[in-house]
Amino acid sequence: MKALILAENDNRELRPLNSRKPGALIKINGISLIEHQIRGYVKAGVKEASIAVVAGYHHDKVKRFLKRTYPAIRVVKNDDYRLMSAARSLHLALESVEIDDEALFVSSGECVYDDRVVERLFKCGASAVAGDTSRSDGESILMTNGRVIRVGAAVAKEAATAISADLWRLDAHAISALKGVTAERIVEKRHVSMSAVLDDLVRTARVTLVDLAGTKWAAICSLANLHQADKRFSRFALSDVRCLVLDMDGTVYVGDLPIRGTVEFIERNAQELAFYFVTNNTSKLPEDYRLRLNAMGIPTESDHIITPLGPLVAYLKDYTIRNVCLLGNARLCAYLRQALPELELTADPEACEALIVAYDTELTYDKLRDAAVLLQQNPRLPFLATHGDLVCPAEHGFVPDCGCILSVLEQTTGRKPTVVFGKPSPLLVERVTEQCGEEHMAIVGDRLYTDGKMAQNVGCRFICVLSGETTREQIDDLGEDEFPALIVRDLGELLARVS
Ligand SMILES: [Mg+2]
Repeated sequence: MKALILAENDNRELRPLNSRKPGALIKINGISLIEHQIRGYVKAGVKEASIAVVAGYHHDKVKRFLKRTYPAIRVVKNDDYRLMSAARSLHLALESVEIDDEALFVSSGECVYDDRVVERLFKCGASAVAGDTSRSDGESILMTNGRVIRVGAAVAKEAATAISADLWRLDAHAISALKGVTAERIVEKRHVSMSAVLDDLVRTARVTLVDLAGTKWAAICSLANLHQADKRFSRFALSDVRCLVLDMDGTVYVGDLPIRGTVEFIERNAQELAFYFVTNNTSKLPEDYRLRLNAMGIPTESDHIITPLGPLVAYLKDYTIRNVCLLGNARLCAYLRQALPELELTADPEACEALIVAYDTELTYDKLRDAAVLLQQNPRLPFLATHGDLVCPAEHGFVPDCGCILSVLEQTTGRKPTVVFGKPSPLLVERVTEQCGEEHMAIVGDRLYTDGKMAQNVGCRFICVLSGETTREQIDDLGEDEFPALIVRDLGELLARVS
């Protein structure tokens, strides 16, 4: 058995995701489309050395990926991919790869199939095209008397038997017919799609249909297709979790406005799921966030608001630390005094037991100077930071956050914090993890390097919402282990998914 994957295409509908790589290297579940296909073929029994890939647009990226991951796979280059894609690619591949009497599988590199798809086609002993009788979106296939007779634009949508999944299995006779078809088509020197080639082929060779109804597959021809495929191939099920930890800014709301569908989603799932709301911001108190969420129609209690102040207080209690130097605003200072009545603020190097740096919206030069001196005079002084975010989004742009203050101290003293309680530290949600168990919780957020990283550190699933900072393009740079379990535009979409 042999397999050909056509990965030469430059599809402008996939910009900006395919600006730096071909569509076949776009990822679903952290695995590129082409790798999904290779894994499927290999699992079905095709040897790596029996697979060829036709590359054109960014062919160097395809070549590099294959050399690193599947060195036995042969790459065929189609330099004319802009003018002639599928017909030319098939012609080149059939000319340059040794094709014998064994079955040949042909697929578009911009499709993703689950294992059952490839398996069904493998079980079919004849030449066949994979099509889905349960779908109506895509290139139509018309079949009569057990034989495919037309494919593509010539078939009226209402008359279609199935939708083509751009995956074929060809026997020796069909391979020979395909050689003739592609040789004729390339003379035209124009773009000829896989469906148009197949339409030619079914007139000269008998091709049957393998129905994909009930399987998962997707043709990624646009960003909308990709978004649907992200959800269709996600292994995340809301019924598997008991608790959701929601980042707030960019996930639950932007400014004072809740993001579409958020309130409804929380309302509808309030009986089955425990909701926790998490932020790194220590310029405000948990009670401030509770009031803010309540005003948006999200009822919650203060103990379901998680900020770095919780683990900070627990740490100070655990280590019986009472004399601290604090870089934090007056509200934070009052909060800590209430939580720890014996707390004393001091910049005396003899008395001070820890330096605490928070998002100090009332920062002064004197505070910075005292902190820097303390760090130098006592090299073993515990240096506690509430979080490491460099900037905080504000009404007119980004403003310096706790990380910038830490950076000034590091530049001055060379010291970095001993403990950071905020995201992505698992310490922030330790209480929730202990209560729910990481296998029953999921973190929902809009930042990969805080929310996503924290989920990784905790060992729970991560749902990435595209309603805040992260773009789908940035997600595509992640590896398989870092990839979100689910990608949705916003929480409202998650509501539609479970209803
Ligand atoms: Mg956020």
